[in-house]
Amino acid sequence: MTQPAEHLDRIGQAISIRYNNLVYEMKARGEDVVVLSLGEAFFDIPLFSFHDLPMPDSYHYSHSRGIAGLRRKLAAYYGSHYGVPVDPETEILVTAGSKIAIHMSLMAVLGPGDEALVLEPAWVSYSEQVKLCHGVPVWVPHDASVFGLDAFITPRTRAILVNNPNNPSGKVYSRAELEHLHALAERHGLFLIADEAYSEFVSGDAFISCGALDPEKRHTVVCNSMSKNYGMSGWRLGYVIGGTRIMAEVLKINQHLVTCPPTILQYYLERHFEAVLDITRPQIADVMRRRRELAGFMDELGLAYLPGDSTFYFFVSIAPSALSSEEFCTRLLTEHRVSTVPGIGYGQSCDRFIRVSVGAESMERTRRGIELIRELIRDTAVDEDPFLPEAALAPAGVVIPAGRR
Ligand code: PMP
Repeated sequence: MTQPAEHLDRIGQAISIRYNNLVYEMKARGEDVVVLSLGEAFFDIPLFSFHDLPMPDSYHYSHSRGIAGLRRKLAAYYGSHYGVPVDPETEILVTAGSKIAIHMSLMAVLGPGDEALVLEPAWVSYSEQVKLCHGVPVWVPHDASVFGLDAFITPRTRAILVNNPNNPSGKVYSRAELEHLHALAERHGLFLIADEAYSEFVSGDAFISCGALDPEKRHTVVCNSMSKNYGMSGWRLGYVIGGTRIMAEVLKINQHLVTCPPTILQYYLERHFEAVLDITRPQIADVMRRRRELAGFMDELGLAYLPGDSTFYFFVSIAPSALSSEEFCTRLLTEHRVSTVPGIGYGQSCDRFIRVSVGAESMERTRRGIELIRELIRDTAVDEDPFLPEAALAPAGVVIPAGRR
Protein backbone atom coordinates (compact mmCIF):
# COMPACT_ATOMS: atom_id res chain seq x y z
CA MET A 1 0.00 0.00 0.00
CA THR A 2 1.32 3.45 -0.85
CA GLN A 3 2.09 5.39 2.34
CA PRO A 4 1.33 9.04 3.23
CA ALA A 5 4.17 11.45 4.07
CA GLU A 6 6.32 10.12 6.90
CA HIS A 7 6.44 13.30 8.98
CA LEU A 8 2.67 13.04 9.51
CA ASP A 9 3.34 10.06 11.80
CA ARG A 10 4.63 12.63 14.29
CA ILE A 11 1.48 14.74 14.13
CA GLY A 12 -1.41 13.94 16.42
CA GLN A 13 -5.11 14.73 16.19
CA ALA A 14 -6.27 17.90 17.95
CA ILE A 15 -7.10 16.28 21.30
CA SER A 16 -9.84 18.80 22.14
CA ILE A 17 -11.56 18.12 18.82
CA ARG A 18 -11.16 14.34 19.33
CA TYR A 19 -12.99 14.54 22.67
CA ASN A 20 -15.64 16.88 21.30
CA ASN A 21 -16.29 14.45 18.44
CA LEU A 22 -16.93 11.74 21.06
CA VAL A 23 -19.44 14.10 22.67
CA TYR A 24 -21.22 14.72 19.36
CA GLU A 25 -21.43 10.95 18.87
CA MET A 26 -22.77 10.32 22.40
CA LYS A 27 -25.35 13.07 22.02
CA ALA A 28 -26.42 11.64 18.65
CA ARG A 29 -27.12 8.38 20.51
CA GLY A 30 -29.39 10.38 22.84
CA GLU A 31 -27.00 10.39 25.83
CA ASP A 32 -26.95 13.38 28.18
CA VAL A 33 -23.42 14.76 28.53
CA VAL A 34 -22.35 17.70 30.68
CA VAL A 35 -20.15 19.45 28.12
CA LEU A 36 -17.12 21.07 29.74
CA SER A 37 -14.88 20.41 26.75
CA LEU A 38 -16.04 22.91 24.15
CA GLY A 39 -13.73 25.68 23.00
CA GLU A 40 -16.39 28.36 22.90
CA ALA A 41 -18.99 30.19 24.92
CA PHE A 42 -22.57 30.04 23.73
CA PHE A 43 -24.24 33.42 23.17
CA ASP A 44 -27.69 34.44 22.07
CA ILE A 45 -27.14 36.29 18.80
CA PRO A 46 -30.08 37.05 16.51
CA LEU A 47 -29.86 36.28 12.83
CA PHE A 48 -29.76 39.61 11.04
CA SER A 49 -31.00 39.95 7.49
CA PHE A 50 -28.98 38.60 4.60
CA HIS A 51 -31.35 40.18 2.10
CA ASP A 52 -29.70 43.56 1.86
CA LEU A 53 -26.16 42.24 1.33
CA PRO A 54 -24.55 43.19 -1.99
CA MET A 55 -25.58 40.92 -4.85
CA PRO A 56 -24.21 39.35 -6.92
CA ASP A 57 -20.86 40.17 -5.17
CA SER A 58 -21.75 38.12 -2.11
CA TYR A 59 -21.87 34.99 -4.26
CA HIS A 60 -18.31 35.33 -5.50
CA TYR A 61 -14.70 35.36 -4.41
CA SER A 62 -13.60 38.53 -2.69
CA HIS A 63 -10.26 40.34 -2.45
CA SER A 64 -7.77 37.87 -0.97
CA ARG A 65 -7.01 40.26 1.90
CA GLY A 66 -10.74 40.22 2.72
CA ILE A 67 -13.37 42.81 1.71
CA ALA A 68 -12.12 46.36 2.25
CA GLY A 69 -15.03 47.43 4.47
CA LEU A 70 -14.48 44.64 6.99
CA ARG A 71 -10.73 45.24 7.02
CA ARG A 72 -11.40 48.91 7.81
CA LYS A 73 -13.71 47.96 10.71
CA LEU A 74 -11.29 45.44 12.18
CA ALA A 75 -8.35 47.83 11.79
CA ALA A 76 -10.34 50.58 13.56
CA TYR A 77 -11.34 48.11 16.31
CA TYR A 78 -7.71 47.18 17.03
CA GLY A 79 -6.78 50.85 16.92
CA SER A 80 -9.47 52.15 19.25
CA HIS A 81 -9.70 49.16 21.64
CA TYR A 82 -6.14 48.00 21.89
CA GLY A 83 -4.07 50.97 20.76
CA VAL A 84 -2.63 49.16 17.73
CA PRO A 85 -2.47 51.34 14.61
CA VAL A 86 -3.37 49.16 11.61
CA ASP A 87 -3.31 50.16 7.94
CA PRO A 88 -6.34 48.37 6.47
CA GLU A 89 -4.74 48.32 3.02
CA THR A 90 -1.50 46.51 3.84
CA GLU A 91 -1.38 45.40 7.47
CA ILE A 92 -4.43 43.17 7.91
CA LEU A 93 -5.79 40.10 6.17
CA VAL A 94 -9.12 38.42 6.86
CA THR A 95 -9.14 34.66 6.42
CA ALA A 96 -11.05 31.48 7.31
CA GLY A 97 -10.53 31.51 11.10
CA SER A 98 -7.50 32.24 13.24
CA LYS A 99 -6.30 28.64 13.08
CA ILE A 100 -5.25 29.04 9.45
CA ALA A 101 -4.13 32.60 10.25
CA ILE A 102 -1.65 31.26 12.81
CA HIS A 103 -0.54 28.50 10.47
CA MET A 104 0.04 30.92 7.58
CA SER A 105 1.99 33.21 9.91
CA LEU A 106 4.19 30.26 10.90
CA MET A 107 4.65 29.33 7.24
CA ALA A 108 5.74 32.88 6.55
CA VAL A 109 8.33 32.75 9.32
CA LEU A 110 9.72 29.21 9.59
CA GLY A 111 12.08 27.40 7.25
CA PRO A 112 12.75 23.65 7.57
CA GLY A 113 14.41 22.88 10.93
CA ASP A 114 13.71 26.34 12.38
CA GLU A 115 12.52 26.42 15.96
CA ALA A 116 9.49 28.09 17.54
CA LEU A 117 9.01 28.41 21.30
CA VAL A 118 5.69 27.05 22.48
CA LEU A 119 4.79 28.11 26.02
CA GLU A 120 2.92 25.45 28.03
CA PRO A 121 0.11 25.09 28.64
CA ALA A 122 -0.01 25.66 24.89
CA TRP A 123 -3.08 25.51 22.69
CA VAL A 124 -3.18 22.06 21.08
CA SER A 125 -2.41 23.12 17.51
CA TYR A 126 0.73 25.27 17.95
CA SER A 127 3.23 22.41 18.08
CA GLU A 128 1.53 20.44 15.33
CA GLN A 129 1.33 23.50 13.07
CA VAL A 130 5.05 24.13 13.61
CA LYS A 131 5.72 20.51 12.62
CA LEU A 132 3.47 20.87 9.56
CA CYS A 133 5.80 23.72 8.54
CA HIS A 134 8.75 21.27 8.94
CA GLY A 135 9.83 23.34 11.94
CA VAL A 136 10.71 22.20 15.44
CA PRO A 137 8.46 23.11 18.39
CA VAL A 138 10.49 23.84 21.51
CA TRP A 139 8.28 23.23 24.51
CA VAL A 140 8.64 25.49 27.52
CA PRO A 141 7.23 23.85 30.70
CA HIS A 142 4.31 25.57 32.39
CA ASP A 143 6.27 26.50 35.51
CA ALA A 144 9.07 28.24 33.57
CA SER A 145 8.90 32.03 33.79
CA VAL A 146 8.71 34.26 30.73
CA PHE A 147 11.79 35.92 32.19
CA GLY A 148 13.70 32.64 31.83
CA LEU A 149 12.93 32.13 28.15
CA ASP A 150 16.45 33.12 27.06
CA ALA A 151 17.54 29.61 28.05
CA PHE A 152 15.35 28.09 25.32
CA ILE A 153 16.59 30.30 22.49
CA THR A 154 19.13 28.84 20.04
CA PRO A 155 20.56 30.10 16.73
CA ARG A 156 17.67 28.21 15.03
CA THR A 157 14.91 30.01 16.97
CA ARG A 158 12.70 32.10 14.68
CA ALA A 159 9.51 32.67 16.62
CA ILE A 160 7.79 32.74 20.00
CA LEU A 161 4.11 31.83 20.07
CA VAL A 162 2.24 33.62 22.81
CA ASN A 163 -1.43 33.09 23.60
CA ASN A 164 -2.78 36.08 25.47
CA PRO A 165 -5.09 35.51 27.30
CA ASN A 166 -4.17 31.86 27.53
CA ASN A 167 -6.28 28.89 26.60
CA PRO A 168 -6.40 26.79 28.83
CA SER A 169 -5.23 28.61 32.01
CA GLY A 170 -6.88 32.02 31.57
CA LYS A 171 -3.56 33.76 32.27
CA VAL A 172 -3.21 37.33 31.02
CA TYR A 173 0.35 38.47 30.32
CA SER A 174 1.53 41.48 32.30
CA ARG A 175 3.11 44.52 30.70
CA ALA A 176 6.49 43.52 32.15
CA GLU A 177 6.21 40.03 30.64
CA LEU A 178 5.20 41.38 27.24
CA GLU A 179 8.00 43.95 27.30
CA HIS A 180 10.44 41.14 28.04
CA LEU A 181 9.09 39.11 25.10
CA HIS A 182 9.49 42.11 22.80
CA ALA A 183 13.03 42.68 24.04
CA LEU A 184 13.88 39.04 23.30
CA ALA A 185 12.36 39.34 19.83
CA GLU A 186 14.44 42.46 19.11
CA ARG A 187 17.65 41.03 20.55
CA HIS A 188 17.46 37.69 18.74
CA GLY A 189 15.66 38.75 15.56
CA LEU A 190 12.56 36.65 16.34
CA PHE A 191 8.93 37.00 15.41
CA LEU A 192 6.41 37.26 18.21
CA ILE A 193 3.26 35.55 17.00
CA ALA A 194 0.51 36.65 19.37
CA ASP A 195 -2.72 34.69 19.39
CA GLU A 196 -5.28 37.04 20.93
CA ALA A 197 -8.41 34.99 20.13
CA TYR A 198 -9.85 35.57 23.64
CA SER A 199 -9.00 39.28 23.93
CA GLU A 200 -12.54 40.26 24.97
CA PHE A 201 -12.70 37.62 27.74
CA VAL A 202 -10.57 39.54 30.20
CA SER A 203 -11.59 40.85 33.59
CA GLY A 204 -11.08 44.61 33.86
CA ASP A 205 -8.59 46.30 31.54
CA ALA A 206 -5.67 43.95 32.13
CA PHE A 207 -5.34 42.94 28.47
CA ILE A 208 -2.48 44.51 26.53
CA SER A 209 -2.19 43.57 22.87
CA CYS A 210 1.29 42.56 21.78
CA GLY A 211 0.82 44.95 18.89
CA ALA A 212 0.47 47.93 21.24
CA LEU A 213 4.08 47.49 22.37
CA ASP A 214 5.37 47.25 18.79
CA PRO A 215 3.24 49.77 16.89
CA GLU A 216 5.60 49.73 13.91
CA LYS A 217 5.12 45.93 13.82
CA ARG A 218 8.84 45.31 13.50
CA HIS A 219 8.50 41.73 14.71
CA THR A 220 4.90 41.29 15.88
CA VAL A 221 2.18 39.30 14.14
CA VAL A 222 -1.24 39.34 15.84
CA CYS A 223 -3.93 36.76 15.09
CA ASN A 224 -7.53 37.12 16.22
CA SER A 225 -10.90 35.67 15.43
CA MET A 226 -14.67 36.07 15.43
CA SER A 227 -14.98 32.58 16.89
CA LYS A 228 -14.64 33.33 20.58
CA ASN A 229 -14.99 37.10 20.97
CA TYR A 230 -18.15 37.27 18.82
CA GLY A 231 -19.43 33.73 19.45
CA MET A 232 -19.37 32.89 15.73
CA SER A 233 -16.99 29.92 15.52
CA GLY A 234 -18.98 28.23 12.77
CA TRP A 235 -18.55 31.19 10.44
CA ARG A 236 -14.82 30.60 10.19
CA LEU A 237 -13.70 34.21 10.15
CA GLY A 238 -10.38 35.30 11.59
CA TYR A 239 -7.63 37.75 10.76
CA VAL A 240 -3.91 38.50 10.89
CA ILE A 241 -2.28 41.85 11.60
CA GLY A 242 1.39 42.43 10.87
CA GLY A 243 3.97 44.65 9.19
CA THR A 244 3.74 45.22 5.43
CA ARG A 245 6.71 42.94 4.65
CA ILE A 246 5.49 39.83 6.48
CA MET A 247 1.89 40.44 5.41
CA ALA A 248 2.97 40.35 1.76
CA GLU A 249 4.10 36.75 2.39
CA VAL A 250 0.95 35.84 4.34
CA LEU A 251 -1.08 37.24 1.43
CA LYS A 252 0.70 34.95 -1.05
CA ILE A 253 0.13 31.93 1.19
CA ASN A 254 -3.54 32.87 1.65
CA GLN A 255 -3.94 33.17 -2.11
CA HIS A 256 -2.64 29.62 -2.58
CA LEU A 257 -4.42 27.97 0.35
CA VAL A 258 -7.69 29.80 1.05
CA THR A 259 -8.30 32.54 -1.58
CA CYS A 260 -10.70 34.32 0.77
CA PRO A 261 -13.13 33.43 3.55
CA PRO A 262 -16.82 33.16 2.55
CA THR A 263 -17.66 36.50 0.96
CA ILE A 264 -21.28 36.61 2.10
CA LEU A 265 -20.23 36.19 5.74
CA GLN A 266 -17.69 38.97 5.42
CA TYR A 267 -20.37 41.33 4.09
CA TYR A 268 -22.74 40.23 6.82
CA LEU A 269 -20.18 40.90 9.53
CA GLU A 270 -19.17 44.23 8.04
CA ARG A 271 -22.84 45.28 8.00
CA HIS A 272 -23.62 44.07 11.54
CA PHE A 273 -20.22 44.49 13.22
CA GLU A 274 -21.28 46.99 15.88
CA ALA A 275 -24.62 45.29 16.51
CA VAL A 276 -22.92 41.92 17.13
CA LEU A 277 -20.41 43.54 19.50
CA ASP A 278 -23.18 45.34 21.40
CA ILE A 279 -25.02 42.05 21.83
CA THR A 280 -22.06 39.87 22.79
CA ARG A 281 -20.25 42.28 25.17
CA PRO A 282 -22.77 41.99 28.03
CA GLN A 283 -22.87 38.24 27.51
CA ILE A 284 -19.09 38.10 27.76
CA ALA A 285 -19.31 40.07 31.03
CA ASP A 286 -21.78 37.47 32.23
CA VAL A 287 -19.43 34.61 31.33
CA MET A 288 -16.65 36.35 33.28
CA ARG A 289 -18.94 36.72 36.30
CA ARG A 290 -19.77 33.03 36.12
CA ARG A 291 -16.07 32.19 35.85
CA ARG A 292 -15.35 34.11 39.06
CA GLU A 293 -18.20 32.34 40.82
CA LEU A 294 -17.00 28.93 39.68
CA ALA A 295 -13.44 29.75 40.80
CA GLY A 296 -14.89 30.28 44.29
CA PHE A 297 -16.79 27.01 44.00
CA MET A 298 -13.62 25.09 43.08
CA ASP A 299 -11.77 26.75 45.96
CA GLU A 300 -14.49 25.51 48.33
CA LEU A 301 -14.18 21.99 46.93
CA GLY A 302 -10.39 22.02 47.30
CA LEU A 303 -9.75 21.77 43.56
CA ALA A 304 -6.54 23.44 42.41
CA TYR A 305 -5.97 25.13 39.02
CA LEU A 306 -3.28 27.15 37.29
CA PRO A 307 -3.36 30.91 38.01
CA GLY A 308 -5.52 32.94 35.62
CA ASP A 309 -8.78 34.88 35.68
CA SER A 310 -9.65 35.30 32.00
CA THR A 311 -11.21 33.25 29.17
CA PHE A 312 -13.87 30.65 30.06
CA TYR A 313 -11.38 27.91 30.87
CA PHE A 314 -9.78 26.48 33.98
CA PHE A 315 -6.73 24.24 33.85
CA VAL A 316 -7.62 22.05 36.80
CA SER A 317 -5.03 19.93 38.60
CA ILE A 318 -5.73 16.21 38.86
CA ALA A 319 -2.38 15.72 40.63
CA PRO A 320 -3.84 13.58 43.45
CA SER A 321 -5.25 11.05 40.95
CA ALA A 322 -3.26 8.03 39.85
CA LEU A 323 -4.67 8.36 36.31
CA SER A 324 -3.02 10.05 33.36
CA SER A 325 -5.00 13.01 32.01
CA GLU A 326 -6.28 10.92 29.07
CA GLU A 327 -7.36 8.05 31.33
CA PHE A 328 -9.02 10.56 33.62
CA CYS A 329 -10.98 12.34 30.88
CA THR A 330 -12.01 9.06 29.25
CA ARG A 331 -13.35 7.69 32.56
CA LEU A 332 -15.04 10.99 33.37
CA LEU A 333 -16.79 10.89 30.02
CA THR A 334 -17.74 7.22 29.86
CA GLU A 335 -18.62 6.67 33.54
CA HIS A 336 -19.90 10.11 34.60
CA ARG A 337 -20.97 11.65 31.27
CA VAL A 338 -18.85 14.79 31.78
CA SER A 339 -16.59 15.89 28.93
CA THR A 340 -13.28 17.72 29.53
CA VAL A 341 -9.97 17.80 27.65
CA PRO A 342 -6.79 15.97 28.79
CA GLY A 343 -3.96 18.28 29.84
CA ILE A 344 -1.39 16.25 27.91
CA GLY A 345 -2.64 17.92 24.72
CA TYR A 346 -1.25 21.21 26.10
CA GLY A 347 2.31 19.93 26.64
CA GLN A 348 4.38 17.30 28.39
CA SER A 349 4.40 19.27 31.67
CA CYS A 350 0.59 19.27 31.66
CA ASP A 351 -0.41 15.64 32.18
CA ARG A 352 -1.47 16.38 35.76
CA PHE A 353 -4.21 18.72 34.48
CA ILE A 354 -7.49 18.69 32.59
CA ARG A 355 -9.10 21.62 30.77
CA VAL A 356 -12.53 22.57 32.03
CA SER A 357 -14.55 24.94 29.86
CA VAL A 358 -17.41 26.78 31.54
CA GLY A 359 -18.97 28.64 28.62
CA ALA A 360 -21.49 26.21 27.19
CA GLU A 361 -23.59 24.80 30.05
CA SER A 362 -25.92 26.21 32.73
CA MET A 363 -24.36 27.03 36.11
CA GLU A 364 -26.19 24.14 37.69
CA ARG A 365 -24.90 21.58 35.21
CA THR A 366 -21.40 23.08 35.29
CA ARG A 367 -21.31 22.81 39.10
CA ARG A 368 -22.50 19.22 38.88
CA GLY A 369 -19.76 18.47 36.34
CA ILE A 370 -17.13 20.02 38.62
CA GLU A 371 -18.39 17.95 41.58
CA LEU A 372 -18.06 14.81 39.46
CA ILE A 373 -14.47 15.78 38.59
CA ARG A 374 -13.74 16.02 42.31
CA GLU A 375 -15.38 12.64 42.92
CA LEU A 376 -13.27 10.97 40.25
CA ILE A 377 -10.09 12.53 41.68
CA ARG A 378 -11.09 11.19 45.10
CA ASP A 379 -11.94 7.73 43.76
CA THR A 380 -8.66 7.38 41.89
CA ALA A 381 -6.39 9.14 44.41
CA VAL A 382 -3.15 7.66 45.66
CA ASP A 383 -3.54 9.35 49.07
CA GLU A 384 -6.36 8.70 51.44
CA ASP A 385 -7.43 12.31 51.60
CA PRO A 386 -6.46 13.89 48.27
CA PHE A 387 -7.77 17.31 49.23
CA LEU A 388 -5.49 17.88 52.22
CA PRO A 389 -3.05 20.81 51.90
CA GLU A 390 -0.04 18.62 51.09
CA ALA A 391 2.47 20.65 49.11
CA ALA A 392 3.28 17.52 47.09
CA LEU A 393 -0.19 17.60 45.60
CA ALA A 394 0.31 21.01 44.10
CA PRO A 395 2.79 21.20 41.24
CA ALA A 396 4.65 24.51 40.94
CA GLY A 397 2.45 27.39 39.89
CA VAL A 398 -0.84 25.77 40.82
CA VAL A 399 -3.31 27.87 42.75
CA ILE A 400 -3.88 26.20 46.10
CA PRO A 401 -7.45 26.91 47.16
CA ALA A 402 -7.84 29.17 50.17
CA GLY A 403 -9.10 26.32 52.36
CA ARG A 404 -5.97 24.29 51.76
CA ARG A 405 -3.31 26.91 52.32
N1 PMP B 1 -6.30 30.06 19.18
C1 PMP B 1 -6.79 29.53 20.30
C2 PMP B 1 -6.05 29.77 21.56
C3 PMP B 1 -7.95 28.76 20.27
O1 PMP B 1 -8.43 28.25 21.42
C4 PMP B 1 -8.60 28.53 19.04
C5 PMP B 1 -9.85 27.68 18.92
N2 PMP B 1 -10.01 26.73 19.85
C6 PMP B 1 -8.06 29.11 17.90
C7 PMP B 1 -6.91 29.87 17.99
C8 PMP B 1 -8.67 28.91 16.54
O2 PMP B 1 -9.92 29.46 16.44
P1 PMP B 1 -10.61 29.82 15.06
O3 PMP B 1 -9.87 29.10 13.95
O4 PMP B 1 -12.01 29.34 15.20
O5 PMP B 1 -10.49 31.29 14.91
